[in-house]
Amino acid sequence: MLFDTHAHLDSHKFDSDRDEVIERALAAGVDTIVNIGFNRETIPTTMALTEKYPFIYAAVGWHPTDAVDMKLEEDLAWIERLCTTHPKVVAIGEIGLDYYWDTSPKDVQQTVFREQIRLARRIGKPIVIHNRDAHEDIVKLLKEERASEVGGIMHCFSGSWETAQICLDMNFHISFGGPVTFKNARVPKEVLERVPLDRLLIETDAPYLTPHPHRGKRNESAYVRLVAETAAEIKGVSLEEIAKITGDNARRCFGITR
Ligand SMILES: [Zn+2]
Repeated sequence: MLFDTHAHLDSHKFDSDRDEVIERALAAGVDTIVNIGFNRETIPTTMALTEKYPFIYAAVGWHPTDAVDMKLEEDLAWIERLCTTHPKVVAIGEIGLDYYWDTSPKDVQQTVFREQIRLARRIGKPIVIHNRDAHEDIVKLLKEERASEVGGIMHCFSGSWETAQICLDMNFHISFGGPVTFKNARVPKEVLERVPLDRLLIETDAPYLTPHPHRGKRNESAYVRLVAETAAEIKGVSLEEIAKITGDNARRCFGITR
């Protein structure tokens, strides 16, 4: 069975057919999904999904592009409360740095990121990392804040093998999404080949980052199978094996026992 470690199925892009999208995921062999609530709007909609579907879990955190909207103390307390009282909240995320969109100043992003790593260490939750054009500062802050104590996931990893190694050394899993299926994705394919099997994860980031051959259209959790097929091919194992290995890794990482 397949585990989609990163999805946004609460997105308004699914408003007209969400139940069918989730049915298609189950039909494709997906048995667990972690949906990501990342700001004031999407944390409640993510929690609602976890209450409706037994196989959907939540990560909650504050996204770097929304960092300016965070009321630091109040919203940290909100995230902490959800993490410590709701059994289906399995991680803090997605958190990190995004230097591509200039919606939040770098120093604000860094403060919000640091505070959430500190919270994760305090309550013992893994973290889901969003990194866009910020490899150096991500590594620096993860080190300074001793993120290795909790570890977690480098979501839709797009960096070099050197960066991947540093993240592996800090107890992180490396997760691949749709972009690794693209024909010209030389570096992601090389990194996937070298990531140890016991640290490998797969995801969709649906509705974004749609894999080949659906590139350009809306992504959905059923397509995690296409990422699994690419990973199986690169690793030289069967689809069933890659599904089992990445599913076991995800359950261990998130502390899911079902
Ligand atoms: Zn995401």
